[in-house]
Amino acid sequence: MSYLNDLYQEIILDHNKRPRNFGELKDANRRADGYNPLCGDKLTVYLHMDGDLVRDVSFQGSGCAISTASASLMTEALKGKTRAQVEELFNGFHSLVTGATSGDDSSQIDLGKLAAFHGVSEFPIRVKCATLAWHTMQAALENKEQAVSTE
Ligand code: ZN
Repeated sequence: MSYLNDLYQEIILDHNKRPRNFGELKDANRRADGYNPLCGDKLTVYLHMDGDLVRDVSFQGSGCAISTASASLMTEALKGKTRAQVEELFNGFHSLVTGATSGDDSSQIDLGKLAAFHGVSEFPIRVKCATLAWHTMQAALENKEQAVSTE
């Protein structure tokens, strides 16, 4: 189990140091801004939707390691997914970081690398860091004008 924790930590550190899909998405047709005042995390999520499909997704901004790594892993997870699949992943991820599921439950959907955030549930203040990108992405999907705040 501690091997697994090390592996998870490695994933988060790596994605914080070298965030994937970082930068403005030139052909984005949706975008939203998110802000977590508790920690100071700020980011913008860009989406290129092709009908119901996430053709491309990126993010930009600055924040703590958890928020940056979460945004980076989210963009990797969402590419090529349908809205329904995105919704499913978000629900699964949300349950994981809020401690509603252990993450080991085989009846749950496969979160892949997103499972690296299971430890976040022990630190309630970090849950907002981990979910900021997701809430922002959802606002972008719904084309909300107002910036997302976790408060
Ligand atoms: Zn944070």
